[in-house]
Amino acid sequence: MTDKTRFSGSFTQQEPIPEAAIEAATKVLRHGRLHRYNLADGEEGEVALLERDFQAFTGAKYALAVASGGYALATALRAHGVSVGDNVLTNAFTLSPVPGAIASLNAKPVFVETTDALTIDLDHLAEMAAGTEAKVLLLSYMRGHQPDMDALMRVAKTHGLSVIEDCAHTMGGTWGGVVSGRHGVTACYSAQTYKHINSGEGGLLITDDPQVAARATLLSGSYMLYDRHGAGPEPEIFEHYRDVMPNISGRMDNLRAAILRPQLADLDVQVARWNVLHETMEGELGDHNRWRLIHRDPGLKRVGSSFQFQVPDKGPDKIRDFVDRCAGRGVELKWFGAPRAVGFTSTYRNWGYANPPVLPQTDRVVAGLLDMRLPLTFSIEDCTLIAGILRDELAAGNP
Ligand SMILES: *Cc1c(COP(=O)(O)O)cnc(C)c1O
Repeated sequence: MTDKTRFSGSFTQQEPIPEAAIEAATKVLRHGRLHRYNLADGEEGEVALLERDFQAFTGAKYALAVASGGYALATALRAHGVSVGDNVLTNAFTLSPVPGAIASLNAKPVFVETTDALTIDLDHLAEMAAGTEAKVLLLSYMRGHQPDMDALMRVAKTHGLSVIEDCAHTMGGTWGGVVSGRHGVTACYSAQTYKHINSGEGGLLITDDPQVAARATLLSGSYMLYDRHGAGPEPEIFEHYRDVMPNISGRMDNLRAAILRPQLADLDVQVARWNVLHETMEGELGDHNRWRLIHRDPGLKRVGSSFQFQVPDKGPDKIRDFVDRCAGRGVELKWFGAPRAVGFTSTYRNWGYANPPVLPQTDRVVAGLLDMRLPLTFSIEDCTLIAGILRDELAAGNP
């Protein structure tokens, strides 16, 4: 009999690597050519093939595989010419590697407010774009939420902003039928274990701009072997940059690419599975006067790999108590309103190196924001059980 009072699954356990990926990885291990430029005669290599696959998957002109999602973000910023002291607009509500990528160039993150839908606030964006000399918006779709992209791109155009999209949580999703990452000039993805395809670490960058693609390729540490890339621009473009771009070594290797290719081929199936889990959570929890689900922009086809809801801000003690009671029943919630950052959960207030201003709207949004992972190792029954525990404890915690 299953225990209805406690959930015993793990929120951090992903599915095993698929057999096809294990086989492909074993092949690479057996021949030993792990470095992406270490190729036998006539061999293309798994990294170049992954780039080709990702080019086809996104419809972008160029794709580059790198060492991590955060590395892809920093490389994109450099390839767009961001340099020391430049202001770069970005979300106040995102994961720490996003402002970290800006800080890695000694540029300055300029944080933009967050809406109740957990997306960037477009009015505040326009205000901050007008008030700073920022030329670049590093736009993050934290937890898979995207704003009205037509409206966003209008703001970007009005203020002459180049948009770099952080699609770490939207790989496999679309907005208005357009693949996530195809609205801006450049987009970055992560293949870290907790994202949508898993090689431990890994990142991808796409763009239609041949200059950006060439600069990013050289930055990633291509030596002069850029002709061994799967989805890069023409060699002539590299002539302008090959003697001026630094090598900031951050390549992907053939082993990880081999693991990723079968997962990418299967992503649509996984997205459908994630969305069933997410719909179960939404259906079971529903909206209530004591909690609220997060509004989704009608244009968005989300990947439901995590679930968020909001409780009214009754002070940190009450929410802490609720989080603790859920934990006691095996339900691991992340609380963005916690006074101190724990685990992966931090907000702009914790990024002191960027001298963050106070953003009252973001503070209000995150104060009662709760979040959990939905790994594909969960079943529909698991989600029903978890939602039941949340409902119980939400009810119990309110006088
Ligand atoms: C994970 C993540 C990144 C960075 O990816 P890594 O591969 O871990 O460097 C960037 N943005 C968001 C929103 C993320 O969750």
